[in-house]
Amino acid sequence: MRAYERLIKYAAFPTASDENCPQCPSTHAQTAFANALADELRTIGLCDVTVDENGYLFASIDGNIDNYDGAVIGFIAHMDVVDVVPFTDIKPRLIENYRGGDILLNAEKNISLLESDCAFLGDLVGKTLLVTDGTTLLGADDKAGIAEIITMAENLVNHPEIKHGPIRIGFTPDEEIGRGADLFDVKRFGADFAYTVDGGSFGGVVYETFNAASADLTITGKSIHPGAGKNAMLNAARIAEQFDMLLPQLERPEYTEGYEGFYHLIEMKGDVSSAKLRYILRDHDWDKLTAKKEVVRKAVEEINRRYGEGTAVVEIRDSYRNMREMVEPHRHLINIAYECVRALGGTPVTVPVRGGTDGSRLSYMGLPCPNLGTGSYNHHGCFELACVEQMDDCTELIIKIAEAYGKLGKDYINK
Ligand SMILES: [Zn+2]
Repeated sequence: MRAYERLIKYAAFPTASDENCPQCPSTHAQTAFANALADELRTIGLCDVTVDENGYLFASIDGNIDNYDGAVIGFIAHMDVVDVVPFTDIKPRLIENYRGGDILLNAEKNISLLESDCAFLGDLVGKTLLVTDGTTLLGADDKAGIAEIITMAENLVNHPEIKHGPIRIGFTPDEEIGRGADLFDVKRFGADFAYTVDGGSFGGVVYETFNAASADLTITGKSIHPGAGKNAMLNAARIAEQFDMLLPQLERPEYTEGYEGFYHLIEMKGDVSSAKLRYILRDHDWDKLTAKKEVVRKAVEEINRRYGEGTAVVEIRDSYRNMREMVEPHRHLINIAYECVRALGGTPVTVPVRGGTDGSRLSYMGLPCPNLGTGSYNHHGCFELACVEQMDDCTELIIKIAEAYGKLGKDYINK
């Protein structure tokens, strides 16, 4: 079975996670999907296939090298999808031999994917694309990763002539709501290193993510009948506006790129008596993120100076850190991925991710974990698509990585 055929099958599982549910997994659909994947892995012939009480699926591919003393490598993908776009009744459709230009996704509703919106489409001319009908996501983020890992497993089981050490597979719930690594049992997973397979185009090898924090602000006003408000009313909603103006106006997601960090107002609600503002703060550089937290604290001080102590209260929390620090000491993770991408005729592409991956957290939990491309694009939207040939390449890539580690002894990887 080819990876894209699995992706089509998996797209039928409505596995959106739900940040309002405190349980793990946050939705039953993820458990159902995990159980279906576990059955598939057992049928393929994998061992130690388990779905734990938190919905994490782990499995093993036995090594086939005598006296192997090299690294145990893991491959990880997430089972959930975002719930911000429709995620049920997905109708994947293949476009063979894409000719370039706009893609009509839905004639009835007149929905087209515009070439002018997608710079990457030029690279996909002549390829087979898997698209939606323009009204739902596809779920390639990250079911393309799952499809590729399982197709790799099937290939390794069916081709014992490909030599490799023991390989671990991990499928996680709730990545899209930032909890994918929370209950990941790194010790039980038992790999020395892993790759998340959760990126964009084939050839992507990512080991730099944002450092991330959140700032939750509460503003308390003083509600008084507007007729008698003069010099007495403190309108919390107005103060919230002022607070936001105290932050650097151009350091927002809509004005930044590359290594530029930002302050992002993700939620704002309030009335006269109270207001809440939620921000996320991001920067690849840890010191710059620390400085951003300081700016938020200073803005709180300024509001309190103007309107009285306790008017504004902030809670700042760290979310995840740039994985670079944890991955760089194990440079072989990057070098081997690069070599294998090149061996398949690709060009490795490393860009700093303007976000995080499960791997950022896992790297700090003791499992260094760069991220690989899956051959899919436009994640988190109705224009999401996957390239069938790139999905094959990504599958071949992780087979090659497993093989490459099989050839290396302990000495190399300890370097
Ligand atoms: Zn993802």
